Amino acid sequence: MREHRQLFLGGAWVAPSTDRTLEVISPHTEETIARLAAPAPADIDRAVAAARHAFDAGPWPRLDPAERIRIVRDLARRYTEHHEEIARLVTAQMGAPITFSRSAHAQLPGVMMRALADLAEVHPWEEFRPGYYGRDILVRSEPVGVVAAIAPWNMPMLMAVGKLTPALLAGCTVVVKPSPETPLDAYLLAGLIEQSEIPAGVVSILPGDRDIGEYLVAHDGIDKVSFTGSTAAGRRVAAVCGAALRRVSLELGGKSAAVVLDDADPETVAAGIQVAGLMNSGQACVAQTRVLVPRHRAPEFVDALTAMVAGLRVGDPFDEDTRVGPLASARQQQRVRGYIESGLAEGARLVIGGSDRPMGLDTGWYVRPTLFDGVGPEMRVAREEIFGPVLTVIPYRDIDDAVRLADSTEYGLSGSVWTADIDRGLTLARRIRSGTFGINQAYRMDPHAPFGGVKASGIGREFGREGLQSFLDTKSISVL
Ligand code: NAP
Repeated sequence: MREHRQLFLGGAWVAPSTDRTLEVISPHTEETIARLAAPAPADIDRAVAAARHAFDAGPWPRLDPAERIRIVRDLARRYTEHHEEIARLVTAQMGAPITFSRSAHAQLPGVMMRALADLAEVHPWEEFRPGYYGRDILVRSEPVGVVAAIAPWNMPMLMAVGKLTPALLAGCTVVVKPSPETPLDAYLLAGLIEQSEIPAGVVSILPGDRDIGEYLVAHDGIDKVSFTGSTAAGRRVAAVCGAALRRVSLELGGKSAAVVLDDADPETVAAGIQVAGLMNSGQACVAQTRVLVPRHRAPEFVDALTAMVAGLRVGDPFDEDTRVGPLASARQQQRVRGYIESGLAEGARLVIGGSDRPMGLDTGWYVRPTLFDGVGPEMRVAREEIFGPVLTVIPYRDIDDAVRLADSTEYGLSGSVWTADIDRGLTLARRIRSGTFGINQAYRMDPHAPFGGVKASGIGREFGREGLQSFLDTKSISVL
C-alpha cells in the first residue's frame, strides 16, 4: 500500500490545502493499492499562479532553446533508469499486461522525450525571411504561455510526457492533470522533475478528478489547454476554451478500421489485428476494432481471427504470458459488457467471447476478448468507441464500399490496410479520412510522425514538428 501525502506543486512537494484523498484500486484484485492527497481548487490556483509567475518573470521561456533541450535530455536520461518501475506501476494501477507496459507505457515516453528534443534541435527558433517589400522579416517562435495538460488513464505516462515535453522545449510552463485512476506513474515523473534543473514553478502535476479538470481548463491564468480524452469531454473542454478564446488542442476518441484487401493473408492479418485491435486490452484510442473484409473471403478471415482470439491468454496482468488483462475500472468493464449485450440485441453474430466473466477469474474487472461477425455499419458496436477487447468483422463489396464503411463513423483517428501490394495500400490510405494510417502494420507510434485526428477525433496534432509547433506562437518583426 502506497501513500502520498503531498502534492507536486510548482516543482516542489507541498502540503495539500485540504485533507481530501484519492484511492487507487487494483483492477486485478479490486483491492486498494494506494492512497494519495487530492488537489482542491485552491491547489490549482497555487499551481497556476506558480506557472504564471515562472512564465511571466522566470528564466524558462527566455532561456536559449539549446539550454532547455539540454535539461530535457537530462530528464530523459534519468527517466530511462526507471523503466521497470514505471511498467510495474502502470500495470498495478490500470491492468495493462506487463509486457505491453514495458514496451509501450514505460519505454515509449523516454523515446518520445529524446525524439522531441531532436526536433527542437533543428527547429528554426528565429529566422530571417525576405519580406514582400524588399526588407527582411524576423520570424520568431515564442512559447504560448501557461499550459494545462490533461491526460487520460489508458496511456497515462505517454500522454503526460507527450504534452509536457514539447511544452517544456517550447518554453511554456505546465500544470499537468493525470487521471485520478492512474496517478502513480505521474508521482514518479514528478520526483524526476524535482531532481532536474527545471526551475521552480515551471511544472506542477496534480492528479485530480473531473471537477478539478474543469476548474483548471476554465482558469483565467491558463493560455493553452492540451487535452486527451473522450470526445464527449473534449466537446466540453472546447466550449470552455472557445468562450475564453483560449488555445486548445484535442486528442479524442476513435473507431478505426483495418481494411483487409482480397490479396491479404488471413494469418498475417489476424496477428496484426491482435496488436492493432487489442493492444492495452483494447483500451487504445487508435484501436482498429472494425475489421473490414472482402465479402467473398470473409469466412477465411473470421476463422483466422477466431483462432487468434481463442489463443489469447487472459488474466493476471503481471503474468509474462498474459496478453489481455483486466479493464482499468469497474465502470469500463460495465461499459464494455453493455456494448457486447447491445451487439447481441442488434443481431450481430457472437463468434467467440461474450459479456460473462472469463473462467477462473473471480476478482478483477475482466471482459472476455470478443469477436462479432455479421455486423452492420448501423449497429452501435460498429459506430461507437467501445474501448475494450471487442472486435467486429464487417464485410464489404468492393473498394468504394470499403472506403465508405471505413469513413462511416463520426471519428477519424487511425486505420490500416492489409495487402500484398503496397501501391494498392497507398492508394487506399490516401482515400480514408483519418489523421494517421498504417500499411500492413498495427499502429506504431513514431515520435517524429504528427499524431491526431480529423472529425470528432480531435483538433490539432501532437508529436512530430507539428506537435512542437502547437506550443509555440509565431511573431514577425519587421524593421523600417
Ligand atoms: P475522459 O473521461 O474524457 O477523461 C480524460 C481526462 O480528462 C481525465 O483526466 C478526466 O478526468 C479529464 N476530464 C474529463 N472531463 C473533463 C472536463 N469536462 N474538463 C476537464 N477535464 C476533464 O477520457 P478517459 O475515459 O479517461 O480516456 C479514454 C478516452 O480517451 C477514449 O475516448 C480514448 O479514445 C481517448 N484517448 C484519445 C487519445 C488520442 O490521442 N486521440 C489517446 C488516449 C485516449 P477524470 O478521469 O477525473 O474524469
